[in-house]
Amino acid sequence: MRTSQFPLNTVKETPADAEIASHKLMIRAGLIRKIAAGIYTWLPLGLRVLRKVEYITREEMNKAGALEVLMPALQPAELWQETGRWEKYGPELARMQDRHAREFCLGPTHEEIITDLARNELKSYKQLPITYYQIQTKFRDEIRPRFGVMRSREFVMKDAYSFHLNQESLQQTYDVMYQAYTNIFNRFGLKFRAVIADSGAIGGAVSHEFHVLADSGEDAIAFSDSSHYAANVEKAEALAPQGERPQPTQAFTLVETPNQHSIDEISRFFNVRAEQCLKTLIVRGEDNSLVALLLRGDHELNPIKAEKIPGIVAPLQFASDEEIIAACGCKPGSLGPIGLNMPIIADRGTVLMADFICGANQDGKHYSGTNWLRDIPLPAQIADLRLVVEGDVSPDGNGKITIARGIEVGHIFQLGDKYSAAMNAAIINEAGKNQIMLMGCYGIGISRVVAAAIEQGHDERGIIWPNELAPFQVAICPMNMHKSDRLLETVERIYHELLDAGFDVLLDDRKVRAGFMFSDMELIGIPHRIVIGDRGLDSGTVEYQGRTDRESQEIPFSEIVNFLK
Ligand code: ATP
Ligand code: MG
Ligand code: MG
Ligand code: MG
Repeated sequence: MRTSQFPLNTVKETPADAEIASHKLMIRAGLIRKIAAGIYTWLPLGLRVLRKVEYITREEMNKAGALEVLMPALQPAELWQETGRWEKYGPELARMQDRHAREFCLGPTHEEIITDLARNELKSYKQLPITYYQIQTKFRDEIRPRFGVMRSREFVMKDAYSFHLNQESLQQTYDVMYQAYTNIFNRFGLKFRAVIADSGAIGGAVSHEFHVLADSGEDAIAFSDSSHYAANVEKAEALAPQGERPQPTQAFTLVETPNQHSIDEISRFFNVRAEQCLKTLIVRGEDNSLVALLLRGDHELNPIKAEKIPGIVAPLQFASDEEIIAACGCKPGSLGPIGLNMPIIADRGTVLMADFICGANQDGKHYSGTNWLRDIPLPAQIADLRLVVEGDVSPDGNGKITIARGIEVGHIFQLGDKYSAAMNAAIINEAGKNQIMLMGCYGIGISRVVAAAIEQGHDERGIIWPNELAPFQVAICPMNMHKSDRLLETVERIYHELLDAGFDVLLDDRKVRAGFMFSDMELIGIPHRIVIGDRGLDSGTVEYQGRTDRESQEIPFSEIVNFLK
């Protein structure tokens, strides 16, 4: 491409609503433009990156044996009523009516549509296991769309769904997807961690999130690279007082306390003042389960939560398990969703609202949560209370804990029969009987990956793309090309050599000063820059400089292709 035919839409100003680096840089570099809150147009330069994210994702999904489909964005209410989510999903679901007053939604996710497809198309156990996927636009009426395409209302997601005869097969595919995700994020060239997660509003028992590491990330994650331990210390966003970013976690020492604790006791134990809002604790329960807690002093409730449930400053009493399940969408003793990202624990007839929590034991299957409401004792299953934080020994004893911030870019779940049972998605099994299928689902936030890559790779001059995601890998900046035929010829020759070698090359053929070209190429984050000038013609060399190099180096014309490979 030539800049004469591929205009760069770089701008100096950043919009007032751009709080984080990636949002500012995506506007300044001319990747996206805002249309309305949480709604963006992708400009040609940005779309090239988005397509590369899609391309790598698609290739790895195909390799993993998943079959691509394309499902509609517009979904009929009837399917959502079958699973009960029409009522449960809340205001994030973008609902609408057609001209006949029939109800529809713009899909935030596609479990209902794919389960409908599966119950109609799959007949026999011989067709299982099967995994479908799509790369498609999703709609979520986020309460606070922000950070550009990081949390937008319309975004591109890769979502996959698998169908199984039994748990063993579901686990197998889950493992295949886990590996495919690892390959995908490695190919993106991003630093990431997979962590055990709660399963949010989608439900199900086993789930991992994939986080790109970046200081601006909304989630705190705890992991140890030398052990298998990794967990999401969830939902700092929901906890932080409006407008305030969570503070980094402090280092604590290992402490044990007696069996029952109130928040005041815990505050005393860990010397956490009530005003200090966010503290990360990970505690080990009697059954060896781990529970990660964000300990919060003030107990002020997030408006999102308060809107949903009146009277949540006190535990809710329920007479039966059925009542708990109906009210909370989760089983007693487990984490479950109420509305947005709100884990709760239902325990011994009492539901405790959790400000945050998720946890898992060493085989990753058990979840637990609790809330630190004043004067409410800790659930008895949390026995000796230990803090395992930054720098400490990991709960399995095999490494040291790191606590970092992450951006959730992928999420995989074992859904079990949550949707297939509700929608009666059955096949004929080996015994000739009808059997409800088990399901898994697997998402990647394609648009969010672009923003996350910039959060991880930028400096004061602009974006620093990893090679695989860069809109162009090589920029050619000729010096006064228009004044010299000899230079023009050489520039064209090198440009075509690089194209033939498979590079995405941007030739800057604008009649502008060198400094202007350089700052544009740095802002848009091209990893490799080649400067060709009259002086180089005499010595037969170009001036090469990598985006993060401090100095340029001279490379002979004949070696430049191999040098870049
Ligand atoms: P979050 O916790 O950030 O709200 P989520 O858990 O609601 O995300 P999932 O339902 O797990 O999201 O969807 C799969 C992926 O889609 C997420 O891992 C994330 O990368 C992406 N995603 C979710 N919501 C948005 C959004 N509003 N804008 C951009 N990407 C999103
Ligand atoms: Mg999430
Ligand atoms: Mg969400
Ligand atoms: Mg998620």
